[in-house]
This record gives sequence, structure tokens and C-alpha cells, in this order.
Amino acid sequence: MMMQTLDKLKEGQNAAKDGYQDMTEATIVIVDDEPINMEVVQAFLEEAGYRNFVLVEKSPEAMAVLEETGPDLLLLDLVMPEVSGFEILSAVRTHPKLNHLPVIILTSSTDTESKLRALDLGATDFLGKPVDQSELSLRVRNTLAAKAYLDQLAFFDPLTKLPNQHMFLEHFDWALKKARRYKEQLALLNISLDDFDRVAATLGVGAADEVLRLMAQRMDEVVRCVDVLGHNTSDEESGVNLFRLEGGSFSLLLDRIQSAESAAMAAERLVQAIRQPLQVQKTDLYITASIGIATFPTESEESVTLLRLASSAKDYVKNKGGNSFQFSSSGINAIYEKRLTLESRLRKAIEKNQLIVYYQPKMDVETGTIQGVEALVRWKGDDGQLVSPDDFIPLAEETGLIVPIGEWVLTEACRQLVAWQQAGTSPINLSVNLSAKQLKSLDLPGTIQRILDNSGMDPQLLTLEITESMLMDNIEHTIGLLQRLKEMGLKLSIDDFGTGYSSLNYLRQLPVDELKIDKSFLVDLSEDADSRAIVSSVIFLSHSLGLLTVAEGVETSEQLHFLQKEGCDQFQGYLFSRPVPSSALLELIAPGD
Ligand code: C2E
Ligand code: MG
Ligand code: MG
Repeated sequence: MMMQTLDKLKEGQNAAKDGYQDMTEATIVIVDDEPINMEVVQAFLEEAGYRNFVLVEKSPEAMAVLEETGPDLLLLDLVMPEVSGFEILSAVRTHPKLNHLPVIILTSSTDTESKLRALDLGATDFLGKPVDQSELSLRVRNTLAAKAYLDQLAFFDPLTKLPNQHMFLEHFDWALKKARRYKEQLALLNISLDDFDRVAATLGVGAADEVLRLMAQRMDEVVRCVDVLGHNTSDEESGVNLFRLEGGSFSLLLDRIQSAESAAMAAERLVQAIRQPLQVQKTDLYITASIGIATFPTESEESVTLLRLASSAKDYVKNKGGNSFQFSSSGINAIYEKRLTLESRLRKAIEKNQLIVYYQPKMDVETGTIQGVEALVRWKGDDGQLVSPDDFIPLAEETGLIVPIGEWVLTEACRQLVAWQQAGTSPINLSVNLSAKQLKSLDLPGTIQRILDNSGMDPQLLTLEITESMLMDNIEHTIGLLQRLKEMGLKLSIDDFGTGYSSLNYLRQLPVDELKIDKSFLVDLSEDADSRAIVSSVIFLSHSLGLLTVAEGVETSEQLHFLQKEGCDQFQGYLFSRPVPSSALLELIAPGD
């Protein structure tokens, strides 16, 4: 049995739980040198509800196709040029992964000798040619039913209904091959219930079985419904697979993960779910688990090594008292711990009002007057030191904390702008950065409208900055959302332009007003002809699309002269002012001086 069929088996498993067996999902390979024969057989079986067929006309290709597809059933012609059905049959029976594949022989020969020979070689059943439709569907159904039953015995744990160790080892190999081919990351979690042997010895076998069953259910729920991988795992591309090994041990395979972080998140949720009290035979039990994690390719690329690493990381946790998880490499553990403390400090920062908004002026290139300000968040830690957004915005994005942070920044900046106006300054524009998570959050336009209403901020004066790469992600949805924001009277800006990969085609469709050239292009304007060429063509492009063009990171007067020469509209940078607290900004814009 090949591992592509894991999902199919699970389906069969679910179907079996519901009391019926759906076999129409089975993959059926037909090998026959006469295409017309195969077409007839396929048409008959399609009428019986089967959908997945692979037809092989050239018998020398048969084995490769079988290895690739890992079918549930093979319908095989005996008499073929080059490689005969007998040869294919005996190759199947000696193949380590195909030897249990049911094979129905299609034969026109009434000759008993060749039937006996095929039986000897391990044929499962025979069908005479020309094929009779009802006999064909009957044989196929019976054969598949028998196979499904055997597969379940061989590959599933009857107690927890999870795939078993045998299945795990096969699936692990297959998953590693896939990860190697597509250069994906994968994590192996070794999960072991703490003190399970003692529980079993104290409460008896019946109770221990009940514990395993309930824990398997809990874990399955965690990995199924929770967004552990940063993408929805309930779709059929799901990269999550939970297996029952022996005793109180399980393993979880997470494929296509973004980073070790995802594995840590899954492990943490499992640890939490498992330690919830459990009622078995009217007794409250408190059971915990130890989890060891090994990642591919970071910690190893070899399956044997990964198994060993995950297992020894699990032992390490157990020795320290269990109820936790651990990566196998100390490097990853250290990074994770650092992030964990940063995350909890950041959560508290919001509660403790440690976030502050700084403002950086946006200047007119020609006249040097202040046109607006960009709001930039800062975090004043317990020690009074300012933490740069580059050090916490990415983490805030990953954990979703950016949504409340972004809302707070927008609220505070709008409040501040209105306060300046009330103090008599001439109206200036306000730019606020928006993160990808906010774009995806529910009802962003509603949230923004509420903030505008509460602050009395004029929407015409508000620009939302969205980085280029965010815009290109899920473009259809984004365009619709941006249009709604535009209808509210806001302006939109593409931030960090040049660092993403926008197609010009999309750029034309986006309802934006402003384009900000990323500061990395400004750095070596004076030495680098390439940078100069890029900046002038971006300015040209931006103007031809009718957009206001802003350069960020302007530190020298040479840079400013270049921008003047090229006709750039506005600039931001240390040359005029760093981002400053609101009081300092007021001095820059206050009337009269
Ligand atoms: P950004 O939106 O591209 O902001 C411009 C960054 O360039 C700011 O960094 C600013 O301080 C810096 N900068 C301005 N002039 C100069 C200059 O002349 N030279 C140099 N070397 N740098 C200059 P900052 O404040 O550290 O912010 C970094 C990034 O963090 C921002 O890049 C933005 O993407 C993000 N960010 C800041 N505040 C927020 C926020 O409230 N929400 C969200 N979602 N992101 C924010
Ligand atoms: Mg910005
Ligand atoms: Mg920028």
C-alpha cells in the first residue's frame, strides 16, 4: 500500500464509523494492450460509481505506474506483447509495497493451465473476456471490501481509530520525500502521556483504554480545528497527521510548516488540552504529556535521526517533570524562549500603556513645507528603553497582537491630529501603517469608520499605508477591500515600493493614491547608477499612473537634490526630522513661529 492512500484510508475509516463503506473513491489501475477493452471496463465501472482510473496500454510501464499511484486494485490482462501479465503479477507479489495489492485477471483464455499459473503467482480473482457488466462490478466491489477491511486491521489502531505505527513509518518516509522535493519544512512531534504505565497499573486495562481513547479524541480536535500551521488545516490539503504508537505514545507529523514556531504552537496547545481534567470511571484524572519536537531540514534530514531526536527531546521533558514540550536542538529552544518572553511582555505592554506613537513629517520636495506626518509606533519597555518596531511588529503579526496594536495606533493618531487642529495648526495629512493581518481581519472598514466617528477625524486627511507584498497577496479580495476603504473617503498608499514583486498590471488596477519608494533605494544614490536609474523610473511610473510619489529615508541634501531633479513630490527622512514624540512635532507645525 502506498502512502498517497492515507487520506483515502482515513475516509474509509470515517465511513466505517458511520456504518457503511464507500469504495467508489478507490483508485483502479487497468493494464491491457487493447485500449478498447480498458475503455469498456472503465465505462462499466463508472456506471457503478467508481471515479479514479489509470489506464496502462504499454505493459513495460505498468510497474512504474503502480508504484507512482499506489492503487487499491489492479485489473490485469494476461496476454500482452513485451511484458506479459504473468511477469507483472509476479513483480507485484515480490514488491515490498505492492505485495498485498488485489489483482483481478482479465482473460479470454479458457485454458485452465494459465489460470492455475496465475493463481500460483497470487492472482486474487478472474474475470472472463468479454466482460459481463454485473459480474465485473460484483467482483470489484467484493475485492475492494476485503481490501478495505484488511487495510484497517493492518494500518489502524482499533481502540483510538487513529492510524497506527506501521502506517506512521510508511507515511513519514513519504512525507519526507515530498518535503525534500518541494523544499518544505516539516516537524515531527513525539507525544507521550506522562506516567501512563502507572495509570494503567492502578486503574486497570479498561480505564487505561478509555484514557487513550479520550486523549486521542482531544488531540485530534486540537490538530484538526486549530489554525496550527498558520493556514486552515481543515481543507483537504491538510498537512496534519496524528498516529497512535504503542502504549501511551502518539506522534504528530506537521508538514508544510512556515517555521519551528508553528510546531511550538501546536505542541503548546496539545500540552494544554491534555492536562485538562478527565473523567474515567467516575474518577477525575489529571494526566499530562511530554512532547519532543524535531524539525526537517533544520535539525536533520534523515528519518531515523529525526525519530531519535524527537524521542530524546521527549525524554528530556519527562525527566524534568513532563507537562511541557521541547525542541531537540538547544538553538531552537533558545530562540523560542526568547520569543515567548517577548510575546508575553508585548501583551502586557498593551495593558500597561507602554506603546507610544511617534510622528515623522512628510515634506514637499519643492517648497520644503510640511504636508503631513506618518505615525510610527514605539514601545517603551519596563527599563524605559525604546524598542524599535522592526523588533516587535513581526512577532505581533505572527501572534495576531498586531490587530489590537494597529487599532490602538490608529485611534491614538487620529485623536492627536484632531487635537492639533483644535489647537489651531493648519490641516495636515496623517499616514498610518496597516499590517497584513489587519487587512485580513474581519470588518476592517467598520473598525476604521468607528475610529473616524469617535475622533471626529476628517477621512480626507487620512492615508493608510500598505506594504507592496501585502497587496499582491490575494489580490482579488484586496482590490475589493481597498475599494470599500476608498469609498469611505480615505487615501491609500503603497509602502516600501520596490521590495515586493508587484506586477504592473495589478498596480494599474489598485485604487491607490500614493507610492512610497523604499528607503533601501535611497541609500547609495550618489555612488550607484543602478539605484539612480531605479528611483527615476519609479518616479516616472508612479506619475504616469497618476500617483503622488514619496521618497523615504532621505538623509542627505544630495539625495534631496536628485529627487528635486526627478520631480518626486514628497520626502521623509532624517535630513529634515527623525520620527519624534507628539510634543516635538507640535513645535514643528505650530502656527506663527
Ligand atoms: P515604514 O512604514 O516604511 O516606516 C519608515 C521607517 O523608516 C521608519 O522606521 C522610520 O523611522 C524610518 N526612517 C525614516 N526616515 C529615515 C531616514 O532618513 N533614514 C533611515 N535609515 N530610516 C528612516 P521605524 O519607525 O523603525 O518603523 C519600521 C517599520 O515598522 C515601518 O516601516 C512600518 O512598516 C512598521 N511600523 C511602524 N509603526 C507601525 C504601526 O503602527 N503599524 C504597523 N502595522 N506597522 C508599523
Ligand atoms: Mg510606512
Ligand atoms: Mg516604508
